Amino acid sequence: MTTPAAPLPRKRSIIEPFKIKVVEPLPLRTVAERERVLEDVGYNLFAVRAADVTFDFLTDSGTTAMSAAQWGAMMTADESYAGSRSFYRFEEVVQRLTGYQHVVPTHQGRAAEHLLFSLMCKAGDKVPSNNHFDTTRANLEQLGVDAVDLVCAEGKDPTLDHPFKGNVDVPRLEAFLTEHRGHVPFVMTTITNNTGGGQPVSLANLRDISAACRRHGVPFLLDACRFAENAWFIKVREPEAADKTPRQIAREVFELADGCLVSAKKDGLVNIGGFIALRDVAWVPLLRSRLILTEGFPTYGGLAARDLEALAVGLDEVLEETYLAYREGVTRYIADGLTRVGVPTMRPPGGHAVYIDARALLPHIPAEQFPAQALAVELYRAEGIRSCEIGSVMFGKRPDGSFVPSAMELVRLAIPRRVYTQAHMDYVLEGIAELAHRRATLRGLRIVQEPAFLRHFTARFAPLA
Ligand SMILES: *Cc1c(COP(=O)(O)O)cnc(C)c1O
Repeated sequence: MTTPAAPLPRKRSIIEPFKIKVVEPLPLRTVAERERVLEDVGYNLFAVRAADVTFDFLTDSGTTAMSAAQWGAMMTADESYAGSRSFYRFEEVVQRLTGYQHVVPTHQGRAAEHLLFSLMCKAGDKVPSNNHFDTTRANLEQLGVDAVDLVCAEGKDPTLDHPFKGNVDVPRLEAFLTEHRGHVPFVMTTITNNTGGGQPVSLANLRDISAACRRHGVPFLLDACRFAENAWFIKVREPEAADKTPRQIAREVFELADGCLVSAKKDGLVNIGGFIALRDVAWVPLLRSRLILTEGFPTYGGLAARDLEALAVGLDEVLEETYLAYREGVTRYIADGLTRVGVPTMRPPGGHAVYIDARALLPHIPAEQFPAQALAVELYRAEGIRSCEIGSVMFGKRPDGSFVPSAMELVRLAIPRRVYTQAHMDYVLEGIAELAHRRATLRGLRIVQEPAFLRHFTARFAPLA
């Protein structure tokens, strides 16, 4: 299972560090078939059935291919309601990974957020982070808490090549903690910074955040969904960590904080799951009672024991250097391949996704005609690729209904873990290169129907002539 192995040589081809035992057919459709699908769903890719998608880059969340060891462990699970052996195995893995004694499973990340925040926050509080993920922000805001983003200046410039664009602006954090003394129940940091493009946070920055929190007597919590990808970036980009293993680095990071919330659907290498882990016992009894109310008994927390078994194995596998070198290699390969064919991307590529800058690629399509949505739709129509618009469809509507162009027009290609091969990626790159070649022929879209809020999920569009 966890063979300690040397990382793959960085100058050679990327190879998948696994053999394939189980396969499923890749859905293949003709362009004409996809054009009919697009008409049916009103050019909204969220409404397309997965069976009509050839390469699904909508999200990296819960889309992981599990290993033979994980599937094998699932068969050994102990499905007892209370005190399951599988829980104790999972608990031991999390304790060994994080050093935190108290481990509470939940069915996914947002359940962990809801549970912990509802105990630790009250209306009028303020919680800073580098960037809050959208469910994190929403769970804080529905409690009347102000979710504040304090990412460093480099993190806001999509063209700047900087190794740690997920870092927190620590002087601003210090000032924030002084100004709002008594109203900050905890400080958060997201590793890697999902909302900021999957950019990592450095060990040095995490130390500074931790020290600031200690000086101000405020707990420090990690939103640690991609703790392994973050540890890998620290290893290859921060000289002091070059000789440490990803596990040592991850442990060092967890030791700087007081606890973590984790959606296991990312670096847990599973399709469902999450957990809270805390160093201190103070909140734990109340947390467990609330857990019983909403998720389940504390030794399963809304999951089947087989999910806990798969997660216990996944949390170990994800720290293998061969896996992490491959994982980083894939996103870098796609980003570099796009650069070579003149498709601008956000720099540097993040750990789990590559972001195409649609505004730069399609300067002839104005924001009010949704260039990123137009690109996402064409990627699907021509190539069967599903991506996610992060632009003026998602952010361009004010609460009063008026239009305001989004700061960026991005198309996100999120890469599922261990699912696609390098041949798939080459095929995808060839397709995008062809599309870029005829970029001037792409046309924008108009919205023909939309809901009051979160319109990107359900809006219907029509292509402009
Ligand atoms: C996915 C994610 C969450 C929420 O987790 P779910 O399992 O989707 O509920 C929270 N924070 C970050 C950074 C995430 O990427």
